[in-house]
Amino acid sequence: MFGFLKKVTDYTRDAVGAAQYMTQGLAVTFDHLRRRPVTVQYPYEKLIPSERYRGRIHYEFDKCIACEVCVRVCPINLPVVDWVMNKATKKKELRNYSIDFGVCIFCGNCVEYCPTNCLSMTEEYELAAFDRHSLNYDNIALGRLPTSVTSDPAVVALRELAYLPKGAVDPHGVPDTAPRAGQLPEQVLAAMPESASAETSTAESQGDA
Ligand code: SF4
Ligand code: SF4
Repeated sequence: MFGFLKKVTDYTRDAVGAAQYMTQGLAVTFDHLRRRPVTVQYPYEKLIPSERYRGRIHYEFDKCIACEVCVRVCPINLPVVDWVMNKATKKKELRNYSIDFGVCIFCGNCVEYCPTNCLSMTEEYELAAFDRHSLNYDNIALGRLPTSVTSDPAVVALRELAYLPKGAVDPHGVPDTAPRAGQLPEQVLAAMPESASAETSTAESQGDA
């Protein structure tokens, strides 16, 4: 008797749980029924990547000291640092540097840990190629300045979701002067009490050191 009652209780609980999940799912569906589609006409229109976007890595050959920290912190030991030891000067001589973007996971570890800041993540995301071997960038290709959506005259730059005013989901027709929903890091810092912002700056400068 008790076994039967337990089965009925479990069944009822599962049925109520399933009904709740279905309601949640349908609420999302019905919410989208009220919205119009937002289509970006790529490649004539492009979204502006957000400030912390991790795109193709930029590399400055002249600043690199061939320490190989970037290789050690990379989860897949990807960067190839080609150097030789100059016996006369007892210093490393950098010959070549390359990163294969067909394998890179764009985690940004190499950029974070590089002691001379010669690596940086750019907003360049158009890396499609017919041959995956052409994604292996040498120091010349890595040193090329990134393309920018906002400075390309052939492209209509659209603000992506993080840049839009509060409540807006369609970037078309949003005036340039409309304020964005979120705050920039410097705006957050400016709004903080003086002591808290001083602590943050100290922590940042210690992190950079
Ligand atoms: S960590 Fe920076 S300086 Fe060191 S080898 Fe890599 S790119 Fe060059
Ligand atoms: S972004 Fe990550 S995966 Fe790519 S080279 Fe740097 S550390 Fe390696």
